[in-house]
Amino acid sequence: MYNEIISKIEEYNVIVIARHIGVDPDALCSQLALRDSIKLTYPDKKVLAIGTGSAKFAHMGRLDKLEKVEKALLIVADTPDKKRVDSVDFTQFEYMIKIDHHPFVEKFCDLELIEDTATSTCEVIMELIDKTKLECNKEIAELLYMGLVSDSNRFLFNSCTYKTFGIISKYLEAYKFDLSEVYKKLYLRPINEVRLEGYISLNMNVTANNLGYVVIRDEITNSFEVDSASAGNMVNNFNFIKEVLVWCTITEDIKNDQYRISIRSRGPEINKVAERHNGGGHKFASGARVKSLEEAMNVMRDLDLELEMYNKSLSEGN
Ligand code: AMP
Repeated sequence: MYNEIISKIEEYNVIVIARHIGVDPDALCSQLALRDSIKLTYPDKKVLAIGTGSAKFAHMGRLDKLEKVEKALLIVADTPDKKRVDSVDFTQFEYMIKIDHHPFVEKFCDLELIEDTATSTCEVIMELIDKTKLECNKEIAELLYMGLVSDSNRFLFNSCTYKTFGIISKYLEAYKFDLSEVYKKLYLRPINEVRLEGYISLNMNVTANNLGYVVIRDEITNSFEVDSASAGNMVNNFNFIKEVLVWCTITEDIKNDQYRISIRSRGPEINKVAERHNGGGHKFASGARVKSLEEAMNVMRDLDLELEMYNKSLSEGN
């Protein structure tokens, strides 16, 4: 598969790299790193990383302007399904490659490299660069590490394996990037975000079945002067609460007239519930977008039921 990807990259002079809507560090860093690696290896090629940017992640690197291309190669990073690819007119492309780590949803590219046991798409690209002639430098290595750390929630998830640490070790030795710089880029945040985290802890509802959820209304994000995307991203900070096995933030997104639900679990798998509500994701980290608070509460009810069954099976010793 690696050789096929390289030969397609070599075949095309114009390459566009896209990723999913609702950008996050793994999606962004994987597309930027792959773009920069291809450019470094083949300086004459035109390589564009496209998609809607986010002020929150602007310091990670610059995206390219969307322009009309013809008969180009499209590489879609970190996106399992076609409907969630950001800003792509598929008719402009002659050949398409997917590089991803999500559980399989659908085949929509000619060639699909899916490593669903990897922490992140950045980890998949680290392997690709390591095993092929694609070149890397300190900046590219830093981007890849940043996406990996973010998607594994600082190595907290079981998706971190000896392979993850093996490839990181190789990159650290070869490119000597500064870990504290990476963490500053990822985790330095304004005091208002920390205050909103205080609000979330104080207002989290916890059910008898160990579901924790909080509704963050638009007026709340406004009063803390935090945008709704940042509020939703805080969900990762609420792991390891004794009374909570599945936890969610339900963030009102007035601009898009929807609620963004972010779901995490230390117990039952949750992606099937997310899929039933117009969402999806990983077994233990999923999300959904719903149109009303009522629909969001239906998701909570389904998650609570899932937990009830999970707790029952644990108590029966299954
Ligand atoms: P989030 O909580 O938004 O960070 O999302 C966690 C995971 O769920 C990511 O892997 C997303 O790709 C996936 N996800 C979030 N929202 C959706 C959605 N509406 N449809 C499918 N997958 C989603």
